[in-house]
Amino acid sequence: MRIVTASEMYAIDQYTIEQVGISEDTLMENAGQAVATILRERLDKTDRIAILAGSGNNGGDGVVIARVLTSEGYNVDLWLIPSSEKMKGAAKRALDIYQHAGYEVKNYMAHPLPLERYDVVVDALLGIGAKGQVRSPYQEVIQAVNRIDSLTVYAIDLPSGVPADGGEVEIAIRADVTITIQCPKLSAYLFPTADYYGELIVVDIGIPPRALETASFRQLWTESDVKRTFPVRKRSSHKGTHGKVLVIGGSHQMPGAITLTAKAALRSGAGLLTMAIPDDIYPVVANRIPEAMLLPCRAENGYFAGAMDVASLAIDAIAVGPGMGRTEGTKQVVQAALAQDVPVVLDADALFFWEEYASLLKERTKPTVVTPHPGELARMLQLSIQDVEKHRFTLSKQLATDYGIYVVLKGPYTIVTTPDGKQYINTTGNPALAKGGSGDVLTGIIVAFLMQHASVQAAVSNAVFIHGKAADWLVQHGHSPLSVLATDVIDTLSSILYD
Ligand code: ADP
Ligand code: ADP
Ligand code: MG
Repeated sequence: MRIVTASEMYAIDQYTIEQVGISEDTLMENAGQAVATILRERLDKTDRIAILAGSGNNGGDGVVIARVLTSEGYNVDLWLIPSSEKMKGAAKRALDIYQHAGYEVKNYMAHPLPLERYDVVVDALLGIGAKGQVRSPYQEVIQAVNRIDSLTVYAIDLPSGVPADGGEVEIAIRADVTITIQCPKLSAYLFPTADYYGELIVVDIGIPPRALETASFRQLWTESDVKRTFPVRKRSSHKGTHGKVLVIGGSHQMPGAITLTAKAALRSGAGLLTMAIPDDIYPVVANRIPEAMLLPCRAENGYFAGAMDVASLAIDAIAVGPGMGRTEGTKQVVQAALAQDVPVVLDADALFFWEEYASLLKERTKPTVVTPHPGELARMLQLSIQDVEKHRFTLSKQLATDYGIYVVLKGPYTIVTTPDGKQYINTTGNPALAKGGSGDVLTGIIVAFLMQHASVQAAVSNAVFIHGKAADWLVQHGHSPLSVLATDVIDTLSSILYD
C-alpha cells in the first residue's frame, strides 16, 4: 500500500482519468460505494446519520455515500455545507443524480444544523484540497461536531482540517474512524496530525498499480512483509554462519547502553559478539554479559582515548555509538569503524561529529545504517526538532540519498529510507519505548539482523518491526507502559521472534 502526499494523489487521479480512462465520476462513485461497504458493516438502520458534505470532491464522495445508504433504508440526512449552489464538477453531477433519485438535501445556510439529534456524523467536508486554516462556515461546523462527545465520527479520506501532508492543526475533526480512499496520506503517520485520524481503514477504488507507481515509493512494512523476508536458521548452521559482530561504545558515565546493544544483538541471533569498551569500565561490563567477548580499549577520563585496532578482528558487522560520549576519541573510533569493509550501524554519539564523516561515508562500499531520533537528526542537519518532525519523510530521504546510506528516523512510525530513496513505515511500538535505552536495544537488533538477512532494507525494517512488537507484546501481556525497561524489551525477543 502506497502512502502519498496530496500532490502525488492528484497526479495518481489524473493519470487514472487521462491515461487509463476511468472517469472522475466513476472514481467518485467507486469511492462512495467502497466507503458505504464499510459503513454498512458498522452502522444500524436505527442510527440517526448526518452526512456533512463540503463543496469539493470530498463532499462529492459524501453525496454518493448518502445516496447508497438512503436507498438501502438507512436513516440519513445529507447536509450540504455551505449549500448546493457551491458544488461543481463531479461533485455537482453526483448531487444531480442524488436529487434525480428523489432524495432530499439540507442546505446548511438555510437551516440550523441540529447535531445533537444524530448518533453518527460522516465528515465529508474537506479533503486533500483544503489549503491553509479552515475558513467559515467549515470552521463552525467542525467545532460543533467536536463538541458533542456522543457522536461517532467517520471521516472520509482524512479528517477535515487536517493537512494531507502533515503540519500544525488549528481546527480539525477528531475522528473515531477515518476511511481513506486508496492511499493513506502522509499526515496519518506524522504528529500531531495522526492523533486526529482515530482508526484508519483504507478502501480500494480500482486505481490500477500503474497509476499508483507514479508516486514516490513509500509504503508500510507489515507483519506479512516481515514473515516473507525473515531468514530461516539452517539445521547445519554454526555460530560463524550467523555472523561475528563488533559493538563499540560505553563510557564511565554510561556503561549500560552498550551492554543493552550487545544483549539485544545476541538475543536477535548474532553468532559471536565482541564488545569494544573503554578499559576502565571493563569490570562492570564483564560481569553483566557472560556470552560476550571483550575488547578493552585504552581510555582517557572514562572515554575512548582513540581508535582501536579493528582491522585484525575478522568481523562481519559493526555497531558503534551507544553511551560512548562526544570526545575526540569517539570521532577517531567512528572513523576507524567506517574504514572497515563491513556493514556499519551508527547510533547515538557516533552521529555527533556527523560532518566529519562525509568523505569516509561516500567511499564506503558496504551498507551504512544511521539510526537518529528526531533530536539527533536535527543536529546532523542543523535544523530545529520541530522542522524535523514536520518534514520527517523528505529530510530522511534527503539524508539517505545524499550519502548513499540507510536512514532509520525513529519515533512513533519510524521511517526506514534506503539509499535510493524508498521509504518503509513501521506501525509497531508504543510509548513504553519512550525511555532511555530503547534505542540502544534497536541498534543491537539491527546489527544482528544485518548479518542474517539477504536484503539490508528487510533486515533494518524487520528489526524496527520486531523492536516495536516486543513493546506491544509487553503491554498486551499486562505490563504497564510506565514500567517497561529496555531490558524487558530484550527479554521479550525470545517470545516473539520467528523461527
Ligand atoms: P478537491 O480540491 O479535490 O475538490 P476537497 O474536497 O478537499 O478537494 O475540496 C476543497 C474545496 O474546499 C476547495 O474547492 C475550496 O473551495 C475549499 N477549501 C479549500 N481550503 C479551504 C479552507 N481552508 N477552508 C474552507 N474551505 C476550503
Ligand atoms: P535511547 O538512546 O535512550 O536508547 P532513542 O531515542 O535513541 O533512545 O530510541 C528510542 C526508541 O524508542 C526508538 O526506536 C523509538 O522509535 C522508540 N520510541 C520512543 N517513543 C516511542 C513511542 N511513543 N512510540 C513508539 N516508539 C517509540
Ligand atoms: Mg539513542
